[in-house]
Amino acid sequence: MSEHTPASDPLVDGPHDPEHDPRASYALEPEYVAGLTRRLVSTTGRTVPHTSPLGGQPLAHVPQSSPADVAEAFERARRAQAVWARTPVEERAATMLRLHDLVLDRQAEIMDLVVLESGKARKDAYLEVAHIALTARYYGRTGPDHLATRRVPGIFPGLTRVEVNRLPKGVVGIISPWNYPFTMALCDGLPALVAGNAVVSKPDQQTVLTALLAAGLLDEAGFPADLWQVVTGGGPEIGGPVVEHADYICFTGSTTTGRTIARQCADRLIGCSLELGGKNPMLVLHDAAVERATEGAVRGAFPNSGQLCVSMERLYVADQVYDRFVERFVARTQALTLGASLDWEVDMGTLINQRQLETVQAHVDDAVAKGARVLAGGRARPDLAPYYFEPTILEGVSPDMECFGQETFGPVISLYRFHDEADAVARANEGSYGLNASIYSRDGARARELARGIRCGTVNINEPYGAAFGSMAAPMGGMRESGLGRRQGAEGILRYTETQSVGTQRGLSLGPAYGLSEERHAAVMTASLRLLKKLGRA
Ligand code: NAD
Repeated sequence: MSEHTPASDPLVDGPHDPEHDPRASYALEPEYVAGLTRRLVSTTGRTVPHTSPLGGQPLAHVPQSSPADVAEAFERARRAQAVWARTPVEERAATMLRLHDLVLDRQAEIMDLVVLESGKARKDAYLEVAHIALTARYYGRTGPDHLATRRVPGIFPGLTRVEVNRLPKGVVGIISPWNYPFTMALCDGLPALVAGNAVVSKPDQQTVLTALLAAGLLDEAGFPADLWQVVTGGGPEIGGPVVEHADYICFTGSTTTGRTIARQCADRLIGCSLELGGKNPMLVLHDAAVERATEGAVRGAFPNSGQLCVSMERLYVADQVYDRFVERFVARTQALTLGASLDWEVDMGTLINQRQLETVQAHVDDAVAKGARVLAGGRARPDLAPYYFEPTILEGVSPDMECFGQETFGPVISLYRFHDEADAVARANEGSYGLNASIYSRDGARARELARGIRCGTVNINEPYGAAFGSMAAPMGGMRESGLGRRQGAEGILRYTETQSVGTQRGLSLGPAYGLSEERHAAVMTASLRLLKKLGRA
């Protein structure tokens, strides 16, 4: 491992020595923490200790918000939004493009904090930087077009002028998880801002510092003070009040919490988008390039230690290539550089907390107890970090095992052999999730045809997830119990708007004119309707 020098010296207390005890303290400088937490709305005086999964040591003490603080955050955001909504959309978009540059310039600091808070490999933290730069550029460039007022045909051509406006919803509540702390803090909020909304963000408690760094970058980019509020606390305690005050909710997290939030939004008759869990399948067809497929399987199964909503947990491999594939996949997996540090050289970092470790261990233990075979990994590695679990490949997984249908959200993938492609597609569609799938084949056209039969919101061909997910113009989200609504693309910004149709009638009124009787008026109308259809009008 090469030595890594933290980009911002004050960030980490103590030298970063690759030979050091992996459980060494990574306490942050108090001034740095104070600079970040100044951005929180919190009057409780209560703090909670914050630890780094790299070493399980205290990182900082983070102030907590109360329901009253949430109400105050919404009030401030509402005042700021009233002004922001009147700011020309081009100006809002230009601010987004400044954020793009700032995120790329400050990437080292962002990655340091993301790794310290989440324990992921640095390369996984870089993906967060890249994803936010892509999102900021996409909405910075396309926002004005998505939001432009559109002329649509009126009831009578020439006589009725109809325009559809896109108005901001108001203040959007964003409730996000810990797995991609920088991406999840910002990616859904950026289109909301371009659309003229304000945001109250409730990140997961474990990764609130990264969310605060993200909020500070928005200030530096030039977004108005108070437009973006951050509150923190336990999910039900603080998430509930966020739903109570918001005009729209964007939630990312587990399917269980998603259902609770959907019910609360239904009570208030506000809209919501829900980005939930997955049990994502990868199909390796008989004509797949095996080397490429194994590389994709490793990247697909173990990004962020499998704590990625679109990562792969089920792998279906055609009979003809099964043995070759498995041999290479196991070898590549065993060759990964495991570790928990700020260095670039780590291929797979640690799980984030004890709860994650317990779930992953329980799924593997249950599978092994019921007869599954471990082809790689299978063990916790407290010598690397307190919650570390090895990248694990299982074979012989059956429906009675927990990891067959339940989301593990960890570095565990189950291998299945298939003989018939239709059967493989049917098995990929089993279960209740429908987030992401991947197909490896040399025949792109055929793979795209098979994709249409897969009930997932994204399907990637010859890539595990990045081809669709990394394309900002492509909507991303889940079918079935993987969610409602989409992030990215037109859907990703239009969800934060209300349409308003404005019709202007010119010349003739729509009622009976020139003293016509209702009967005569209906006859004239009928003749006009027939004519308009003949003319091919929509
Ligand atoms: P979680 O549902 O427990 O928590 C997510 C967020 O919701 C956190 O901020 C939490 O504090 C908050 N929360 C919890 N209970 C709440 C309640 N009753 N009311 C309001 N807010 C509440 O999820 P998790 O286990 O921390 O995160 C992992 C899950 O997120 C996985 O299932 C994963 O698949 C999913 N996820 C999905 C996507 C996606 O884009 N589809 C992305 C990342 C993670």
